Amino acid sequence: MKTDFDVLIVGGGLVGLTAALACAQAGFKIGVIDIAEPSDQLADTHDGRASAIATASFRMMRALGVADALVEGEDSHAGPIHKILVSDGQAGKAPSPLNLFFDSAQISEANDGEPLGYMVENRRMRHALHKQTKKVKNITWIAPVRVASFEAGADKVSIRFEDGKVLSANLLVAADGRNSFIRKLAGIGVSSWPCHQKAIVTTVEHELPHEGIAHELFLPSGPFAILPLTGNRASIVWTETPRAADAAMALDDAQFSAELARRFGNFLGKVWPIAPRWSYLLSFQHAKSYTGERLVLIGDAAHAIHPIAGQGFNMGLRDAAALAEILVQARAEGRDIGSDLNLDLFEDWRKFDNTLLTHACDVFNRLFSNDVGPLKHARRLGLGLVDKLAPVRGFFMREASGQIGDLPPLLRGEAYREDRV
Ligand SMILES: Cc1cc2nc3c(=O)[nH]c(=O)nc-3n(C[C@H](O)[C@H](O)[C@H](O)COP(=O)(O)OP(=O)(O)OC[C@H]3O[C@@H](n4cnc5c(N)ncnc54)[C@H](O)[C@@H]3O)c2cc1C
Repeated sequence: MKTDFDVLIVGGGLVGLTAALACAQAGFKIGVIDIAEPSDQLADTHDGRASAIATASFRMMRALGVADALVEGEDSHAGPIHKILVSDGQAGKAPSPLNLFFDSAQISEANDGEPLGYMVENRRMRHALHKQTKKVKNITWIAPVRVASFEAGADKVSIRFEDGKVLSANLLVAADGRNSFIRKLAGIGVSSWPCHQKAIVTTVEHELPHEGIAHELFLPSGPFAILPLTGNRASIVWTETPRAADAAMALDDAQFSAELARRFGNFLGKVWPIAPRWSYLLSFQHAKSYTGERLVLIGDAAHAIHPIAGQGFNMGLRDAAALAEILVQARAEGRDIGSDLNLDLFEDWRKFDNTLLTHACDVFNRLFSNDVGPLKHARRLGLGLVDKLAPVRGFFMREASGQIGDLPPLLRGEAYREDRV
């Protein structure tokens, strides 16, 4: 049966575009559908966050040509994370001496001498992804449009838009974010629970160099992260109860800077905000199934987690890499890419890993976002203990750099070359 596309991806966000590039590189004809005007998504006002991209995820970005698209002139917009310092404390006081320190030098062999990951501002990543998708001839943008419905049949899936137009494909991919319309149309439910927290995000400049060290300070109301961007800049993710976060958002610039300084201490010298503040209500959400008839969910449409470990986008990238590989294998074996068998393979590959990480992040957040005496002592001891046990520390470092588990070829840095296309 002839269809308009092999794969239609609804959602041209960070995950949807990466999936489009991965599947297109593997030789499939892709349509990317988005409700938003692409130029609006590229505006600096669209998203003030930055993402920690694990080493394995960054290898995938290299294999897809996105890392090159992040380079402007001599400079790349990806700031290496060489070290991570995790500590427990209270605003205005020195952190506990029992902390956890990860240094990329300690796993340099397993990591091929690479850093633990890279910090990239989402706006830069989005620009790089858009630039790269424009270069690839088997990707077609279909935006802005509104999907009205879709219908899956024995040999194709058809999407109907609000203007009456219809497009068909062998497989539909929902990458339309945590409120996925496609997931709802498919009747796939979610397990969800609130975090009772909001994350305030901004970018600061500081006097002294950060030396590629990411700091995660666990304060009673939630984690406060200082994440090294290129230059003397850092992305801040400051987690608070919703009331305290709303109050912090309402502070004037001088008061806000003073509150930041109380949490930073003085190790980076003077610190001042250089970007607007953003706030995100945090919750956990996990789709009950990642598949439907000729349908796969990826990225936040399938799983949305707390940013405590900087893993949400990385999980979506792993979904995208696994999806491309499953489609390649199906084609090689003469199977229909949208068949139940194929989709079950995707669910088996990704659901266990994502379930584990979703719950680990939830437990971590509950354990660290409180000031209960015995818990406080236990977690400080725990941090100190993991720091002292080299194999355990090594495991956490490899996990942070995305090296654990059954990695699809793209995450090992292997691009799809002609012999597999
Ligand atoms: C404060 C914070 C910090 C974070 N830090 C990190 C980090 O350091 N590292 C990390 O790995 N992750 C991090 N994350 C998580 C990460 O940002 C998300 O997991 C990621 O952005 C999800 O991307 P996505 O493409 O799946 O969804 P989205 O970015 O939500 O994209 C969805 C796309 O679908 C489109 N869309 C929506 N509805 C429709 C529709 N009906 N029809 C068509 N198109 C539609 C939208 O326009 C958009 O383009 C963080 C999250 C937060 C809140």
